[in-house]
Amino acid sequence: MQRIAVLTSGGDAPGMNAAIRAVVRTGIAKGWEVFGVQHGYAGLIADDMQPMGARDVGGIIGLGGTILGSARCPEFRTAEGRQQALDKLKRRGIEGLVVIGGNGSQAGADAVAQMGFPVVGVASTIDNDLIGSDITIGVDTALNIALEAIDRLKITASSHHRAFLVEVMGRGCGYLALMAGIAGGAEAICIPEVETDPEAVATIIRAAYERGKPHAVVVIAEGAKYNAEGLAAYFTQHAGRLGFDLRTTILGHVQRGGAPGAFDRLLATRIGAGATDHLARGQYGVLVGQIKSQIVATPLVEVGGKQKPLDLSLLELARILEQ
Ligand code: ADP
Repeated sequence: MQRIAVLTSGGDAPGMNAAIRAVVRTGIAKGWEVFGVQHGYAGLIADDMQPMGARDVGGIIGLGGTILGSARCPEFRTAEGRQQALDKLKRRGIEGLVVIGGNGSQAGADAVAQMGFPVVGVASTIDNDLIGSDITIGVDTALNIALEAIDRLKITASSHHRAFLVEVMGRGCGYLALMAGIAGGAEAICIPEVETDPEAVATIIRAAYERGKPHAVVVIAEGAKYNAEGLAAYFTQHAGRLGFDLRTTILGHVQRGGAPGAFDRLLATRIGAGATDHLARGQYGVLVGQIKSQIVATPLVEVGGKQKPLDLSLLELARILEQ
């Protein structure tokens, strides 16, 4: 193998740049030429890529987002779209591909692998829903950003005797909401995996009020049955029921944009390096991730489009701790 390409795809995650840097520099150390593809799979189809040198990835380890750009590319879901992409790669003499991204992106990588092209995935998504990695690149930073926001909201909530509904990211997976809720000491947590009963949430808030708590915080994943606005609308119809005055904050993309912390930089560096190691060893069609602190590979067929189950016993723990 002499020439590989690297791309970032799907939702961006803090630490993607550290992964790009690791892939480029470890690839160069192996004597390869490394091409950076712009805008994910769309850039593969458009042949939008250029060789990257060690200096091109200088100063990016601490930057959030992705210098290569990311995109969602419906064309890549078709066999024709993927064939076009592979034709472009082959015309350039590129013999291996590294895909940095989440669940959908790894489903795309699996589809590429099924077409016989050497591809290795790098586990990167703030959702932490990828089978094949206990924790994925970006989760720790996004979680800390959400936590800082919750801590701040608690302070102002206490000053005014308010309840806050705080919505964090997670359309299909409640990991961020669950962990931010536990770490932030939330009174209630609503996640897509468990159907939200707004009456039960109202009862928890009311009980907190009656116990003399200065505030109540409910952390809600955007994909929960009632998102923050939905829950707020429900509670408005039952005004006075909660005791507290109610406010809603949607954290949204703020959680994605931060500079990666030490954990994500190190994780991205190790997994990125692991990806080129696997390509060099001829171990293709795998996702590289971290399991039990080790960098390991899992076949992409077991990863793409599937969802790692959440440990729901933690939701029970959160309920016990809310007193
Ligand atoms: P993420 O990787 O963050 O989960 P998406 O689910 O949006 O993001 O997927 C990113 C891109 O991966 C999609 O826009 C598409 O180009 C590609 N992709 C997703 N699923 C598939 C699939 N089943 N087959 C081929 N490509 C896919």
